[in-house]
Amino acid sequence: MLTASALIKKRDGKKLSGDEIRFLIQGYCDGSVADYQMAAFAMAVCIQGMTQRETADLTQAMLESGDRLPRTQSVGTDATRKRPRIDKHSTGGLGDKVSLVLAPLLAEVGGDVPMISGRGLGLTGGTLDKLESIPGFQSQLTTDQSSKLLRDVGAFIIGASDRLAPADRKLYSLRDVTGTVESVPLITASILSKKLAANLDALVMDVKVGQAAAMKTLPEATELAKSLIQVGRRAGLPVSVIVSDMEQPLGHAVGNALEVIESIKVLEGGGPADVRKLTLELAANLLLHVNLASTRETAIDRLEAAIDSGRAMDRFEKMIRGQGGDPTAALTIAPGQPVCSDRDGFLADLDCQAIGSAVVAMGGGRRQVHDRIDPSVGVTVHAKIGDEIAKGQPVLTVHCPATSTGDYVESLAHAFTISSEAVPSRRLIMRRFDEKDFRDDTGLAKR
Ligand code: URA
Repeated sequence: MLTASALIKKRDGKKLSGDEIRFLIQGYCDGSVADYQMAAFAMAVCIQGMTQRETADLTQAMLESGDRLPRTQSVGTDATRKRPRIDKHSTGGLGDKVSLVLAPLLAEVGGDVPMISGRGLGLTGGTLDKLESIPGFQSQLTTDQSSKLLRDVGAFIIGASDRLAPADRKLYSLRDVTGTVESVPLITASILSKKLAANLDALVMDVKVGQAAAMKTLPEATELAKSLIQVGRRAGLPVSVIVSDMEQPLGHAVGNALEVIESIKVLEGGGPADVRKLTLELAANLLLHVNLASTRETAIDRLEAAIDSGRAMDRFEKMIRGQGGDPTAALTIAPGQPVCSDRDGFLADLDCQAIGSAVVAMGGGRRQVHDRIDPSVGVTVHAKIGDEIAKGQPVLTVHCPATSTGDYVESLAHAFTISSEAVPSRRLIMRRFDEKDFRDDTGLAKR
């Protein structure tokens, strides 16, 4: 089989067979398909799309590029411990730090959470980049190390490795720098191959919708939800989806170390209300999926008790220590300079593209695969859409080395709009989907 022939077929909008898809993915992993060929493939898929069968084959090929995390651990297994294996994944949004709170929280209420996460993709930061602001934190663990951590702590957050979904690891960073992030089949295969490799009992997806997300509109988010749920079902993984708003950053902090600090506040029972609410709702979905709670209300009560008692925070510290990090280390934040409103009014719009691009430009994200991240930079967003703002009040704070602060303060002065008219606040959770919503392959089933 010729790589170029498969690329031409997809370029021309034809369907690839399972063998052709496996050939491309296996070849990419063993080096016989080059980066530039894979980039062409990703672009062709972005433009031409894939059928659900092709997406399922792509997911399977990416899963088969590596091992599956064993269900029965080899060392010191406690046979009485039957904890369901659960996880959540987000399509990525500005300020999305939910994973850092949710993994230890779920572990605390009885789930095992083997979270295989990604690095920054496009404008949105990656969970691993955030965690690596913690001194010593290791995102690459061997299968034995991660199995031990799961047994001892109930949660880990690691990167796709040479062993688990290695195809995604390579393809993910290639997509980040080739403008091929926003594609339903590529996102579906990327996420589900990692989650299937983790051998989960249930997955909840946070599909972000809005200007700062891969899915810009509700119909696009619905299409992705459908793809994830249906391809998940084909592969035997129950998936439910919460569609959440991404017309403004989640929480206040955007930037790696800033987001770790904000996550710790949420784990301590404080922090921004939207981060806490979304975390609780996603976690509650999972508890219901695996019968760790019988109603949404009891699920939320259990989760809130785990946070408010400090137990979730203890679990976070154990997880970070287990991965070599020091959870008590003071994280360095670059000096901050405020960007203030020049009038009285109401916050009508936050330009997430501008804020995300500024953070990437400061060094908080990557423009090229091998770029190094500066964890100390970022932007604090002090207000939410709809909030009343007084003239002279800081709306943003730019954190970056003093030499370039001026440029960012100037450009970010245009990253928000103040209206003289009152503006409604935004709804955080926009839709919820599960298997009942997509019974067939053609569209939304009538409930
Ligand atoms: N998260 C992933 O793991 N992959 C994507 O493609 C997008 C979000």
